[in-house]
Amino acid sequence: MVCEISRAIEIVLNCLIYVSLGEINSIWLMRKPEVSEDLQAFDPIETSLKTFFLGPKSENADLVNDLISEIFQDWYAWRKTFHPEDGVAITEKDKQLTEYRSQIDTFKSHVTTILRRFNSEIPTFNPRYIGHMVAEISLPALMGHFITLLHNPNNITGEASRIGIKIEDEAISDLATMLGFNPEQAVGHFTSGGTVANFEGLLRARMRLSLWLTLGALAKTQGKNLNIFDSAHMGWEKYNELYTELGASEKSLLPYHILKNNPYEIAEKLKGIFGVNYRGPVILVPQNKHYSWEKAVRLIGLGDDAFWPVKLDYRGKMDVLDLKKQIREARLQNRPILMVVSVAGTTEMGDFDPINEVDEYLKGLKEHDGIHIWHHIDAAYGGFFCALEREENPYLSDSMKLALNAMGSANSITIDPHKLGYVPYASGAFITQNKNEYYLNTIHAPYIDFKPEQDKGPQTIEGSRSAAGAVSTWLTSKTIGFDADGYGMILNRTIKARVLLEKLLAEASPNIFIAPHSETNICLFTVAKPYEPLSMTNRRTLKLYEQYSSSTDRSFFVSKTQLGMKSYGAYIKSYAEKWNAQLDEEGLVLIRLTLMNPFFTTNETKVSYPEAFVADILASIKKLL
Ligand SMILES: *Cc1c(COP(=O)(O)O)cnc(C)c1O
Repeated sequence: MVCEISRAIEIVLNCLIYVSLGEINSIWLMRKPEVSEDLQAFDPIETSLKTFFLGPKSENADLVNDLISEIFQDWYAWRKTFHPEDGVAITEKDKQLTEYRSQIDTFKSHVTTILRRFNSEIPTFNPRYIGHMVAEISLPALMGHFITLLHNPNNITGEASRIGIKIEDEAISDLATMLGFNPEQAVGHFTSGGTVANFEGLLRARMRLSLWLTLGALAKTQGKNLNIFDSAHMGWEKYNELYTELGASEKSLLPYHILKNNPYEIAEKLKGIFGVNYRGPVILVPQNKHYSWEKAVRLIGLGDDAFWPVKLDYRGKMDVLDLKKQIREARLQNRPILMVVSVAGTTEMGDFDPINEVDEYLKGLKEHDGIHIWHHIDAAYGGFFCALEREENPYLSDSMKLALNAMGSANSITIDPHKLGYVPYASGAFITQNKNEYYLNTIHAPYIDFKPEQDKGPQTIEGSRSAAGAVSTWLTSKTIGFDADGYGMILNRTIKARVLLEKLLAEASPNIFIAPHSETNICLFTVAKPYEPLSMTNRRTLKLYEQYSSSTDRSFFVSKTQLGMKSYGAYIKSYAEKWNAQLDEEGLVLIRLTLMNPFFTTNETKVSYPEAFVADILASIKKLL
């Protein structure tokens, strides 16, 4: 009874509040979500997230002002306290001169010009931006970037960077730990992005393979029974054993070194030694790959024929059966395998290849056949998902959990802090599990006194390198944390956002078909009518995309992708069955939404972005159906 009375009072009170608050409450009532609160609200323990970003309306501007002011005060003091006895170079009198003043006016007016121009830059910070793999950058990352710019170290060598190189090593160590490597053994460096990090992997794998093949050739000339394929994959243990047994030296190996001689003559020589044509190595990359792999193969001159794409299954993940088939085929053709690449977070759909199965198979080859193949994981996008809580996480697929748990078994990994690390460009990283496999690519430079193991200059493709990406990553690691309470929490929100948006979109219209098997925070869909040819569906989806890309005053920013039948055939067939499509075209166009912004689902803003987006899509497709 008491309970009922208090309930009645509560209802009356609530009504009064609604009436008195008028408009605010009608907005609140309007967007009171139908979907479960769990998917949308900021959990109180997520409040810390609100300190990591400036906020879509610059809510944390005071905090940023304080930090910027501290950073600059410190920078000024740093200058003033270095040999204070030297005196000033720009005097107060100078500042009174007309030339000085007119130059400053010019300077300021151009600064204003640039600021005005950037006002029409793409607003990637806003929750309405759900296009490509970029969103709001985190405040720790931004501050790290600023601080580094002011000191401007060059991480090519300790001669040009005293602190920057140390912070780089520490940041790499934090990334390595998150990815599942032993930080005592792992080594790496920051790159301008995932593309260069992938090149770094390929170059080291090629050097390793070359060393092994070269020793194999020498051994064969001395009567050892070895073939090209087994030589190129002999493993370090066998390499060291043979090296000692043959009393090999750099000099005795030089005539057979496949990278240090004319490549055409070496191929002839190897043919003479092994009795079969040497046609060069191949690289096995799944068809969900990023296009940087094609660039890499071209850049190192392997020839496009060396690029062996591995098929995808009906989920759009690497088909491990096809991988095994191709490894057998390469062996039959005496073509060494430079590396096998798995993708953690595909660029198109954000999904994970069965890294654990690839790893198991490669381990088996090692144990049973003595065949060692370099396994590189391209985790440019998905590496940060390693921070997620795995065991108790209802939003993670079992296959993704297994893949995440196997990441640490790879020879090398690419990860892009400038994607899911919420770090400003340019910040990628390349890391090897084993120190020795990092230092395979050393180059000497006469005018720098490089210190081995300290200076990355002789190891990196890039020359001068800013420390900004490393410092940004370091500061986010220390402030936000590469674990379940830090990045894990942010990224879990983004996965929940994808689950929510898929649900809302699917419920909104019978013509919206969500791309199946999405695992992370990328949501894809198409707008189709039953039994129509794929070409019609594609044309409609493209028109829908154009509605978003053509207007400058966009309600939302989206991206699109086209899955090719050649790569994603199995996936497209099982997906398009849902609307009984006639497959008359060589691909499927999809609207692609990267839901990285942690504020996309929030109860605080007056608008519910997921619902507003769905309403917007509904209005747009009405004209197209
Ligand atoms: C983005 C991406 C790359 C390339 O990274 P950049 O930083 O753009 O050079 C490589 N691989 C995958 C899987 C990616 O998502």
